[in-house]
Amino acid sequence: MNKMLKCDLHVHTNYSFDTNVDMETLARRAVEIGLDAVCFTDHIDINSHRNTFKEFPFEQRLREFERVRKQFEGKVLLLQGYEMGEPHLHPKETEFLRSLHPDMIIGSVHDAPALDGIADRRKYERAYDRIVRDMVQWGDFDVLGHVDVLRKWHDDYVEDEDFVKETLRLCAQRGKVPEVNTSSMRRAGTPPMPAVDAIAYYVQCGGKYVTLNSDSHTADQLAEFYDVTLPTLPKGAKLCYFVQGKIVSC
Ligand SMILES: [Zn+2]
Ligand SMILES: [Zn+2]
Repeated sequence: MNKMLKCDLHVHTNYSFDTNVDMETLARRAVEIGLDAVCFTDHIDINSHRNTFKEFPFEQRLREFERVRKQFEGKVLLLQGYEMGEPHLHPKETEFLRSLHPDMIIGSVHDAPALDGIADRRKYERAYDRIVRDMVQWGDFDVLGHVDVLRKWHDDYVEDEDFVKETLRLCAQRGKVPEVNTSSMRRAGTPPMPAVDAIAYYVQCGGKYVTLNSDSHTADQLAEFYDVTLPTLPKGAKLCYFVQGKIVSC
């Protein structure tokens, strides 16, 4: 049997508003720690607080990507994509991203007008959940980003487990691949997003593929917590990566 490829498919570079590290440094680090594939997924966010689509240097980023990809050919497979915030609310911009032929698009909910001004935390959480569900129902994306990211952002977050399960069932139904995002584990004792029992439910619902991602914003965070998370993934969940929007088994 072939050795399983080790991939990190949710990686931010200095083309993201909240990240300083460049592609070349990340690629070098990936080789150092023995990763087989990395996908650069920079933020595209359009909401009341920011619009990173408007002046995003798409061509410059693709040129730099091509240069670094060639430089590291044979050492690590470099892929390029985007982490699109609320793709179902921005269909035109998402269509534009598709026209650039990314290897994959992560669909994530970060912020939306429907969340503006909701002070009550529980109301905010349920409104957030509804946006995630609509995105999974209607959005154009390949990988569902951090379904319960509010857990990472708010200490007092109360998870609606039925919502998480229902969302993962929808993913299985629509052929969307959920990620297991380890960035929440930087806080000791916190499971990945979503927790692996939700992934077990996704598998029960007929879901097959998952991605394991670090959501790194620095080189040190690449593939963080993989060694503890990998052995806990349910047996039926197959790891994959994407090339030009097509699933490839790891
Ligand atoms: Zn995100
Ligand atoms: Zn991210």
